[in-house]
Amino acid sequence: MTSSTPFEYAPAPESRSIVDIASSYGLFLGGEFVEPAEGVMFKTINPATEEVLAEVAEAGPADIDRAVAAARRAYSRVWSTMPGTSRGKYLFRIARILAERSRELAVLESLDNGKPIRESRDADIPQVAAHFFYYAGWADKLEYAGLGDHPTIPPRPLGVAAQVIPWNFPLLMLAWKIAPALAAGNTVVLKPAETTPLSALLFAEICQQAELPPGVVNIVTGGGETGRALVEHHDVDKIAFTGSTDVGKSIARSAAGTTKKVTLELGGKAANIVFDDAPIDQAIEGIVNGIFFNQGHVCCAGSRLLVQESIADDVLDRLKRRLGTLRLGDPLDKNTDIGAINSADQLAKIRELSQTGSDEGAERWSPPCPLPEKGYWFPPTLFTGVTQAHRIAREEIFGPVLSVLTFRTPEEAITKANNTPYGLSAGVWTDKGSRILWASQQLRAGVVWANTFNKFDPSSPFGGYKESGYGREGGRHGLAAYLDA
Ligand code: NAD
Repeated sequence: MTSSTPFEYAPAPESRSIVDIASSYGLFLGGEFVEPAEGVMFKTINPATEEVLAEVAEAGPADIDRAVAAARRAYSRVWSTMPGTSRGKYLFRIARILAERSRELAVLESLDNGKPIRESRDADIPQVAAHFFYYAGWADKLEYAGLGDHPTIPPRPLGVAAQVIPWNFPLLMLAWKIAPALAAGNTVVLKPAETTPLSALLFAEICQQAELPPGVVNIVTGGGETGRALVEHHDVDKIAFTGSTDVGKSIARSAAGTTKKVTLELGGKAANIVFDDAPIDQAIEGIVNGIFFNQGHVCCAGSRLLVQESIADDVLDRLKRRLGTLRLGDPLDKNTDIGAINSADQLAKIRELSQTGSDEGAERWSPPCPLPEKGYWFPPTLFTGVTQAHRIAREEIFGPVLSVLTFRTPEEAITKANNTPYGLSAGVWTDKGSRILWASQQLRAGVVWANTFNKFDPSSPFGGYKESGYGREGGRHGLAAYLDA
């Protein structure tokens, strides 16, 4: 977007030579990298350039059997019987290594995912380390993990956890899953998304470096069939899934009638509500952060802007000016605000839904924004004149696309905000504390941010209502999801 920006920046690319990417990766089972039983491999690419980064093994049913058996052995022989203080030491060691190798991890994450290095360096990887530090501290205090006020008998772990994660925050979702599971005494088999397996495989190397007992963490790569074989495996005690609502529903169906415990973190269509007394400049930054952070590949993205009618024109003018300053391009450039869309499939989905916005009569706007020729790109886009019946107001686009709706009264804002099958997050912008408290009680969303957006902390639980799933990750609630309390 260099031509339209009022600022000129010299390119400041982060060096990719800090990270070594092997040409081929096996599966991480029982503490070592092994070949997949059926020998099938698939490629992972850099979505900003379409360059192949590496070949990765596709785990089949026999590999899943081996992975679950390794996790079961490590669970019963080592991890569940180890004192909490010792488990905590391993987790602290992993957390320290993550912090030490943060630059390498950030570059790898941006290469495989397409997200700007500014975000992987300043948001994803620091949060990853913070999660391990936070849950390391819990490992020897599990008797306080119940949600009452008094310590209880130390609760028991569940056993072997099958964990399946999406591609939008690859290493952060891994941390949200693995850190509490291990702190509570479970062992895990984790499957990263097929388009972003590399940071999970580097994490496997970090487990080796930390001398984590073999089998405590197992990483199986592959696509949907690998995920299905894992969650449907008979010897799994707990399923933790983050991904789309459709897959979440199919997992819930398959687990029904078994003894498996399940947590599901699914999609969202969050309302970001701006009242007429809001601090407007701050709200503009919050709107931008809410929908354009990570190219809008965020389950809790503020993808529906609800702005009070009396200030709508002013907010839109300022928002458009601000969008004109965003820089789209090379994810490894430290100046970049908007990186690449993670895959050709996701780009097609964003294009298709955006087209329905125009076809259904909403008005589409993007700043002048030349797109690189190679790779997968979509300009920051907003739609005005959106009604609640439009698909772009109802369906998750999971891209840098904002639907703008207006309201006249606070009650109307809440009604519109809650008019969605989802219920993951919401934002409220107002000068009045009383209105914040009122709105947060009315909003049917797991997280409500006030005069800010996308704020995360390992001690704070996160999760949804309705079709956004069930169970919480983060904080004491996130630990309880891995305990038989
Ligand atoms: P997806 O459901 O297609 O894939 C997610 C993961 O599930 C991938 O690893 C995939 O290989 C695996 N998978 C696919 N089919 C499976 C099956 N039948 N059984 C088991 N595993 C299977 O979703 P996606 O497109 O990769 O991710 C985007 C979705 O994830 C969005 O809807 C987004 O809102 C959601 N998400 C939610 C949260 C949250 O915390 N609520 C966080 C990030 C993403």
